[in-house]
Amino acid sequence: MVQYYGYAGRILYVDLSKGEAVARDLPADLAKAFIGARGFGAKLLWDLVPRGADPLGPDNVLVLAVGPLAGTAAQSASRWFAIFKSPLTGTFFRSVGGGMFGAMLKFAGYDAVVIRGRAEKPTYLWISEGEVEFRDASRIWGMTVDGAKEFLLEETDRNARFVAIGPAGERLVRFAAIVSDDYRTAGRGGGGAVMGSKNLKAVVVRGEGRVAVAREGELSEVVREWRRDIEKNPLLPQWRVLGIMAGWAAHSPLVREGVWEYSRWNELYGPERWLELKGGANSSCWGCPMACRVDFRIREGRHAGLSTYTGSYMLPARVGQRLELEDPRDAVALLDLCNREGMCYFTTSQLVNWVTRASGRGRLKERLERSFETYLSLFRQIAGREGFGGLLSDGWYPAAERLGLDPEDFEEGTGLFRGVDAIQDARFTRLHPQAFSHLTSPRPHHGGTQSLYTVPMMDLQVLREVDARDMGLSEEELSRVFSGPTGFNPGRYARYAEDRMAVYNSLGTCIVHALWGFLGLRYLNLRQAAELYSLVTGREVGVGELRRAGERIFTYWKMLNAEEGFTKEDYRCSRIWLLPRRTPEGEVVLRDYYGEVALSEEDLDRFLGDYYQERGWDESTGLPAPEKLRELGLEEEGFRLPGP
Ligand code: SF4
Repeated sequence: MVQYYGYAGRILYVDLSKGEAVARDLPADLAKAFIGARGFGAKLLWDLVPRGADPLGPDNVLVLAVGPLAGTAAQSASRWFAIFKSPLTGTFFRSVGGGMFGAMLKFAGYDAVVIRGRAEKPTYLWISEGEVEFRDASRIWGMTVDGAKEFLLEETDRNARFVAIGPAGERLVRFAAIVSDDYRTAGRGGGGAVMGSKNLKAVVVRGEGRVAVAREGELSEVVREWRRDIEKNPLLPQWRVLGIMAGWAAHSPLVREGVWEYSRWNELYGPERWLELKGGANSSCWGCPMACRVDFRIREGRHAGLSTYTGSYMLPARVGQRLELEDPRDAVALLDLCNREGMCYFTTSQLVNWVTRASGRGRLKERLERSFETYLSLFRQIAGREGFGGLLSDGWYPAAERLGLDPEDFEEGTGLFRGVDAIQDARFTRLHPQAFSHLTSPRPHHGGTQSLYTVPMMDLQVLREVDARDMGLSEEELSRVFSGPTGFNPGRYARYAEDRMAVYNSLGTCIVHALWGFLGLRYLNLRQAAELYSLVTGREVGVGELRRAGERIFTYWKMLNAEEGFTKEDYRCSRIWLLPRRTPEGEVVLRDYYGEVALSEEDLDRFLGDYYQERGWDESTGLPAPEKLRELGLEEEGFRLPGP
C-alpha cells in the first residue's frame, strides 16, 4: 500500500449483488486532482455510473467519503459525504452528514466506500480490522433508525459508528435520509432511498488506526491558535447553549416564511421558547469545539416524554411557521417522526404545506385540514407510502402529476429547483450568491456557498477586502464582481464561491466556520484551508491551486449532469421566487442582496449570463466550453458535450 499523509490510502469497493468487497489503493492522481470527499465522489460516479442509470436501480453507486483532514487535529473537518445519483432530482447529488462516522471511517483505513449492486436480502455491512462482512439485516428491516441502533451495536461493537436508513428509505421514499448513529443526518436528495434500493440497511464501522500527518507539530500549533480564536468568538458561549439558534436575531428575519408577523413568530419560536424545550448539553462532531447539535426534551403536554434532536433549531422553527403550528412542541413531534422514519423534514413538511393549502383553496378533491393531526397522519402516510400521503412519497413532480397541481404555482413555497425545494427563499434572504447558487447547483444545506455574505447586509468593503481577497481574486476579477447598479454581482461572485465550496466539501470541513471573517479572528477561508491541507498531506499548495481543484470538481458535477440531459433551461429560476409573497407585513418580492432593487426574470437571466461568462463557459449552452475543459485538464475524460 502506498503511504499517504492525511489519507487512509484505500478505497473500499463493495458489490452487493456479488457479495464482494475489495480494497484498492487510493490512486495518487485522484488524491491530487480531486482532494477527497465530494471530489472523489464526482470522479468515482463519472467512472462507475452508466449514463441514464436508474437512481433506484443496482447500477447507481453510493459513495460514502471523507476528506484528507478527517480524523486529524484539524478542527471540524470530519464531515462525511454521501454522493449518488438522486432519485428526487435525477441529478448527481451530494448530501452531508456529521458526527463521528467520518473520522471512524478513516480510522478503519478507508477514504471512501463505493457501494454498487443490490443485495438479495436486507443486509448491513460490518467493516472492522481490515475485514468486511455482509450481515443479515432481516431482523431490523422495517425498524426505525433508533430501533435498529441497539441491534447493530450489540451485534458488532459498542464503540462502532454507523449510518443507517429508516422505513422511509426501505420504502424508497425519494427524499429519505441517511442517518448516522449520533443523528447527524445526510438528509437531502434521497440517499436513504438509494440505500433502500440496494437492500442496505446500514454501514457499521470500527477502526483504531491513526491518520498519519506530515507536519504534526506545525499542525498542532496552527490548531492551537485557531482554537484560541474560536474561544474569543463573542457568540461562542451562547452558541454552546443554543447551537445555530444563537444566530436567531440576525438570521431568522431572513428565513421567515411570511405566514405570521415576524414578532409573532419570534414570540412563539424565539430563543426563550426554545430553552423550554431543550434537552441536555449540546454535542459536537469529531474535533469541533462549537457543539451545535441540540436535543429536545418535551416535559409536558400531549408529547410529554418525547426526546429528539436537530443540528439546527431554525428548522423546526421554520416548519412550525410554515404549517402554522402555534405550539412548538408539535413541530418538534413532526421532526421526531422524520428522524425515526429517516426522511427529510424540510421537504416532507413543504409537500404537506403545499397539498393542505391547495385543498383549502379547493384545488384538490380531498379535504385536508391544516391541523397537527392531519399533518401527523400525512407524514406517516408518506413514510409508509400509503393513503393520500403516499402520493407525495416520490417528490414534487410525480406528486404534481398525480394530483393535477402545478408545483410552481405555490406562492408559500421556498422555490423549486430540478425537483428539490430550496433551503432558502431568496425573496426573504435576498439574492446573495448562496441563494443564487440554487439555480446553478442543486444542493444540500452544507453544499451551498456559505460565507460572509450569508450574514445579512455585509458591508461591501468587508466583502471585497476580506471574503473576496481570501479567495485570491485578482484586481480584474474583483472589478467584474463588484460592479453594476448595486456594486455587487451575485452571479459573478457565485462562480468563485462555488469553487471554494467544492474545496471545503472535498476537504470535509464544516462551513459553520466560514462565517466569522468579519470578527478579525482566524476562520475558515481558502488560505486557512491551503495551510491545513499542506501541513496534513505534506504537499505544499496555495490558494490558487486549491481554487483550481475546486473549479475542476465543480465542472465535473456540471458535466455529469449535462450527460444526464440537463440543459441550460433546467438552470433557470424557479417561478416561485418570481411570485410576490403576500405576508401580514406586506408584499415581499425578490430583491438584490442590499434590498435596493427589485429583480425580474430578465435580471436573473442576466446574472446567469454573467455567471456563465465568469466561468468561461459557453453562454448559449450554459456548458463549459471545450477550451475550459482543456484548461482544467478534463478534455481527456471524454465528456460528451451535447451536439449543436
Ligand atoms: Fe458539527 Fe456543528 Fe461543529 Fe459543524 S459547527 S462540525 S455541524 S458541531
